[in-house]
Amino acid sequence: MESLEQSKQKALSKLNKSFGTSEAIFEGIIHQNKVALGKAITLAESKLSDHRALANDLIGKCLPLSGNSYRIGITGVPGVGKSTFINQYVQLLLAEGHRVAVLAVDPTSHHTGGSILGDKTRMEDIFAHPDVMIRPSPAGDTLGGVTAKTREAIILCEAAGYDRILIETVGVGQSETVVHSMTDIFVLLMLPGAGDELQGIKRGIMEMADILIINKSDAGNEDRAKMAKADYQRALHLFPPTESGWTPRVMTASSLEGIGIDTVHKAIEAYFLQTTSNGYLLHQRQLQRKEWFRSALEMQMSLLLFSNERLKQLYDTQVAEVMEGKTTPYAAAEAILKNLFH
Ligand code: GDP
Repeated sequence: MESLEQSKQKALSKLNKSFGTSEAIFEGIIHQNKVALGKAITLAESKLSDHRALANDLIGKCLPLSGNSYRIGITGVPGVGKSTFINQYVQLLLAEGHRVAVLAVDPTSHHTGGSILGDKTRMEDIFAHPDVMIRPSPAGDTLGGVTAKTREAIILCEAAGYDRILIETVGVGQSETVVHSMTDIFVLLMLPGAGDELQGIKRGIMEMADILIINKSDAGNEDRAKMAKADYQRALHLFPPTESGWTPRVMTASSLEGIGIDTVHKAIEAYFLQTTSNGYLLHQRQLQRKEWFRSALEMQMSLLLFSNERLKQLYDTQVAEVMEGKTTPYAAAEAILKNLFH
């Protein structure tokens, strides 16, 4: 059986016939060709250095055309109803003439070899729509790698004219912070009637939420939903005021029945109006670009370290010494850096 990497290579070489050069792909992207965009994202996800070079070239070309979207982070534990919500919400966006990309960040995908997020079959009403691009999480990588690729995918999608980018992640821990660092607004889905401890959502994640949706507030479930709403409102009041000036909102919805989705939609639009006019959005995007640069630098530094035979050997020796307690991690790191610079 062919490996994932082999099948990606095959798919790429097939595409090479229509989009063989960086110019052709770029032309395709700006003319909103989904195949060209898909190829660009695949190149950005590839580990091969010539693909990387092509991807870097494309991202450089696309960067000046990017930034014109609302970047919306959506999180919640598996089963809370993220896909069902997205399926409904995107239909509202499409009705208003928006073009929507749904990207996924899944830190567990390198264990499972593929993501359950962004699974097209779970968004059945939208996945085939010409104005929707759905991209599951890149598999087989570290969280850092997935993050870098998602940032690049955002830029490429924006250059292709997608003006609403939804970034879906599982609410189990580290990935939220990462998604928070590349989105403008953070939407958290919860269930009615179970404490946040039970739902496995950490306090820090609730603290990041700009909009908290109590999903599965179905008809007949109103009392529990109301109680949950009051509980969460109380909890949010205890958090320090947000930097954005926005007061986080708690709202109830039933994604299955399509109830409350429009209210969420309006709240998201209101958030962007407020943070655009008070300058927060611009400021936050600048900080995020700085963060992007920092992580790119860190990644390239470690790539450099492991691609150089001499440094790699030194690294292996230092690892052995650290493990045996002969040296401290700081001294070992310093030894490698000294060698790198002299
Ligand atoms: P995800 O893992 O967070 O993406 O959750 P899914 O969207 O796949 O939903 C998990 C299950 O919950 C599915 O069986 C959905 O049909 C169901 N579900 C989603 N939203 C609602 C809702 O508002 N009410 C009810 N009763 N079920 C829902």
